[in-house]
Amino acid sequence: MRQFAKTILSLISDIELDKQADKVYDILVDILLFLFNVDNVSLMIKDNDIFIPQRVAGRLKGHLQSLPLKVTGIISEVVEKQRPLYSESVMDILRFGLSDEVTSIYAFPIVSKDKVAGLLGIFNSNIPQEDADIISELCRMTGFIFRLIELQGIYGKCIKDTDVLNMAATRLNPVKESEMLYETIVDISVHLTDAERSSLMLIEDEKPCLTIKAAKGINKKLLKEMKIKVGEGIAGKVFEEGIPLIVHDIEKDERFLIKRRPSYRTGSFISLPFKIGKRTIGVLNISDKITGEVFSEKDLDLLRPFASYATIALERSMYYSLAGHLKELSITDSLTGLFNRRYFEERFFEELQRSERHNLSFSLAMMDIDDFKLFNDTEGHLAGDQVLKNIANTAKDSLRVIDVIARFGGEEFAVIMPQTEKEEAFLVAERIRKSVKEQLPRTWKVFPRERITISIGVATFPSDGKDRSELIRNADRALYRGKKEGKDKTVVCEI
Ligand code: GH3
Ligand code: MG
Ligand code: MG
Repeated sequence: MRQFAKTILSLISDIELDKQADKVYDILVDILLFLFNVDNVSLMIKDNDIFIPQRVAGRLKGHLQSLPLKVTGIISEVVEKQRPLYSESVMDILRFGLSDEVTSIYAFPIVSKDKVAGLLGIFNSNIPQEDADIISELCRMTGFIFRLIELQGIYGKCIKDTDVLNMAATRLNPVKESEMLYETIVDISVHLTDAERSSLMLIEDEKPCLTIKAAKGINKKLLKEMKIKVGEGIAGKVFEEGIPLIVHDIEKDERFLIKRRPSYRTGSFISLPFKIGKRTIGVLNISDKITGEVFSEKDLDLLRPFASYATIALERSMYYSLAGHLKELSITDSLTGLFNRRYFEERFFEELQRSERHNLSFSLAMMDIDDFKLFNDTEGHLAGDQVLKNIANTAKDSLRVIDVIARFGGEEFAVIMPQTEKEEAFLVAERIRKSVKEQLPRTWKVFPRERITISIGVATFPSDGKDRSELIRNADRALYRGKKEGKDKTVVCEI
């Protein structure tokens, strides 16, 4: 008996933890058949309310294999009490639907993590108590091994997930620009799965169409033009259903049975949806393993955590570009609240076209603060900013409703005066200059001037210039003359 136990232990210790459960089942059944001489053995694993046979051996193999055992009768007692039970009762046996060839049943629980996870059934065998004790012990050890294998799996997956996530985080985090991000996602996906080809497709705004944003191993020019309708083709379907797809051979897979394209080396691929919550935003397709092998669940397991992370990065980059776009769309300057340079250019262009078409004149005034560097140097930049704001408000108040004032640059402003001849433009400019000089509150202590003043240069279309640059250049020249002639002045262009 001691010898027995020793052999069993040495067999058990042969089971390495990284071996799959299959190996454990085999060893356990072998031990029972050869060391205990039992007739029929069935090793079952619990799945909800039934025990499903995994390994069956003996004369009644065919019958036992096809019969999952319900948790009822003596089996429910085994589960409840977590200890083995033996029965020869016909009632007990028949309630499981076992054939009348079965004359006895001995059920041993396999306990893992305090729950009965499996059952070892021994049929038609007379087992002495001594052997039953050893088999019980064997089942107890098997339970431990099950749990260890399970933990090892969880742990292994955690390590892999963490590795993938770490790598994804390090590589994706710094990338905020969308194009770059698409390329990085495709890059990492081929790296993770040892694949040659990958493509990332994203849904277009408000259109039921996927476009290819980045690809590896595929002709980029071709892809740029390609649009995939939602629900059509493989990627279109994966997008619609939102469920990852793994195909071993497209030509043999009953779902497809289509010829693979000649440019692909293998018929195996993975198509994985990218999801933000319940909303699918795109699909990542990976094909052609470098080794020529098929893609496996393992590849998918690696891609899943990566896809979640990549989706977050994609969503973030969308917000970034949206924010950039909104900023670009904005037409006001944040410090002064005046129109910004971008808007000025647009309006200026329109005014030029309109005046040309209708043979009208318009004027442009360029304004610049006098000795503003000195102001900043003596009063500080913040006080300088306040002056910019005050000048903007005062200037705006002195304009007519048709005039458009914009912050042209740092301390320069530009005014477009539609349908305004030079003389009138001079008067408007003078009004601005005087109100700034008179109305700006005296907030400074060190700046060695009594007043803050501005200089203005005026040019008029079409006499002082027929295009944008000529007009701006001539208004600037007039402004420069004003500065040279002592500042605090409006000078009109004289050609
Ligand atoms: P000038 O009378 O010839 O125009 O002399 P200036 O000192 O005004 O001219 P300069 O071009 O030498 O200096 C312009 C100054 O305007 C320098 C810069 O620090 C300041 N400036 C430009 N933009 C801003 C801004 O947004 N805020 C503040 N506080 N200062 C600005
Ligand atoms: Mg200046
Ligand atoms: Mg200045």
